[in-house]
Amino acid sequence: MRLSVATGGLARQTLRFVLLLWMALAPSYAATNYTISLASPEQHLVEVQIILPEGSAQRELQLPVWNALYQVRDFAQYINWVRAKDRAGHALAVRELDKSRWQITGAGGGAVVEYQIFLDSPGPFGAQFNSHHAFFNLAQVLMYPVDARSEPMVVRFSEVPEEWRVATPLAAMPEGRFSAHNYDRLVDSPVEIGDFKESDFDEGGGHYRVIVDAEAADYDMEKIAAMLHKIVAAATSWMDDRPFESYMFLYHFPRGPAGGGMEHSYSTAIAVNANVPSQAPEVLASVTAHEFFHLWNVKRIRPQALEPVDYTRENYTRALWFSEGCTSTAADFIRLRAGLLDERHFEQELASGIGELERRPAHLTQSAEESSLDAWLEGDAYYRRRERSISYYNKGELLGITLDLAVREASHGQASLREVFQSMNQNYAKKGRFFPDSDGVREAAEAVSHADLGWFFSKYVAGTEEIPWNDFLRGLGLRLVEGTTKIADAGFVAARNFDGPMTVAAVTAGGEAERAGLQTGDTILEINGKAPGQESSQDMARFTADDTITVKVRGRRGGDRELKWKVGSREETSYAIENMENVAAEQQARRAAWLKGEAQVPQEAHAR
Ligand SMILES: [Zn+2]
Repeated sequence: MRLSVATGGLARQTLRFVLLLWMALAPSYAATNYTISLASPEQHLVEVQIILPEGSAQRELQLPVWNALYQVRDFAQYINWVRAKDRAGHALAVRELDKSRWQITGAGGGAVVEYQIFLDSPGPFGAQFNSHHAFFNLAQVLMYPVDARSEPMVVRFSEVPEEWRVATPLAAMPEGRFSAHNYDRLVDSPVEIGDFKESDFDEGGGHYRVIVDAEAADYDMEKIAAMLHKIVAAATSWMDDRPFESYMFLYHFPRGPAGGGMEHSYSTAIAVNANVPSQAPEVLASVTAHEFFHLWNVKRIRPQALEPVDYTRENYTRALWFSEGCTSTAADFIRLRAGLLDERHFEQELASGIGELERRPAHLTQSAEESSLDAWLEGDAYYRRRERSISYYNKGELLGITLDLAVREASHGQASLREVFQSMNQNYAKKGRFFPDSDGVREAAEAVSHADLGWFFSKYVAGTEEIPWNDFLRGLGLRLVEGTTKIADAGFVAARNFDGPMTVAAVTAGGEAERAGLQTGDTILEINGKAPGQESSQDMARFTADDTITVKVRGRRGGDRELKWKVGSREETSYAIENMENVAAEQQARRAAWLKGEAQVPQEAHAR
């Protein structure tokens, strides 16, 4: 339904009010009704019932092939069976059209479709049901009626164990039901069902809920709430906007490998290892600020290429460098403003990000836009090799830093990345429009700086030219210095795809690991007696040259091997950011504004 009728302001308000009231009071039989039964936690089996309202005789139901991650994961692989009946209980024919789509005939008077699905994929990008809890990204669980994806949806959960409660940003209705005005909104709302801890607070007129499902000893709810207060205050003031009444933070702190967060319009789901809240709270703040800022960037300031969402295949966009990478840049400024990051650590993180990009030979062959398009290959170990790909998170965050500095330079300090985001928020998000990918970012940056920034986008966004870091840093009185450090080198690179196994992505030719018999594609079962976790790259970083490494692997065709070799060493370029020898007052002023993520005060304002 569209409200773009040419009515006057007041009339339109009334119309909207009447429509909202109608939506709230409308009986749910007009909506698609879902019931998710939590019947068999030990088997990770959920049964879904869909009641389709009256409509055409032939209906199609689609289960998305991707969600949350930009990866085709074919959730239909977990569906055990599908059946359908009419409202009187007579069986209806169900015909599979392709691996993720089913056709029901004889559904004119409505129909009841049922299926059983196996759900045991952990983490914020998954759907999991076990005897501890249920966590659902509903797009991995619920088929949608192809002809009614934009119609209202109602969902309820049945056979919920007595001590479990339901937490979700979905609108609650009577009798434990939840509603959404369409399927996209329904599946943009994660659901946690279990015996979790809950807290809430108000900040700047917004209401915030905090849901934590973790061991009580692993976190301090008050500390988390204090951190959240700072982040939401800094972010909403940076954007000068709060496009919601209520927002939900959902945390899991598992005592195993975990790492990541998933953004949603009115919530985020975040999982980090149980040690993080107490031992590395800055990591929790960093991922939280990133996911929270996504409520603007990508959820509301949204690339046109991602809309409408195509649940049947990849949605290609060239703009993930902006939607993901510059979300990290914004999160840096939010943490600086919130007092959760200081100048020294900010510059260290920046130098280490530069090193990460410069050490990947692919930074000369794959552009930030190409990396965005190729996001769909990230599940593949070969693709993640240094010679093959860069990360749009890494380069995108650095492009956010350099674009901010280019805008400052071009506008003589009168604009910054903050104005770029605010302008895109006004011109796209607030008007319900989507931005034309990288061109939309360029237009906004040029509008706030009143300058041509085409060179920036052609060289560094669409192109693969080396970024002249010092040209950008000079305005701040800072410079990048290179050095060499000798680092331990285990002779191989391993990577894991989210909850997948850790596999060997590359083995250094002629190195000790190769001589010991390690092969690309081997699955790593243990490193020095420990199962590899998300932290394995840090574990590997702790090795020093001449340490003995013992790795248990499984070959591509099966067969476990235990391999042992001595860790070698190699020289690597290291980067640091330092003060220039003479920092002028202008550079100092620019840097002070930069560290607040804001434009410099206009000269006229000084005079007054
Ligand atoms: Zn993100």
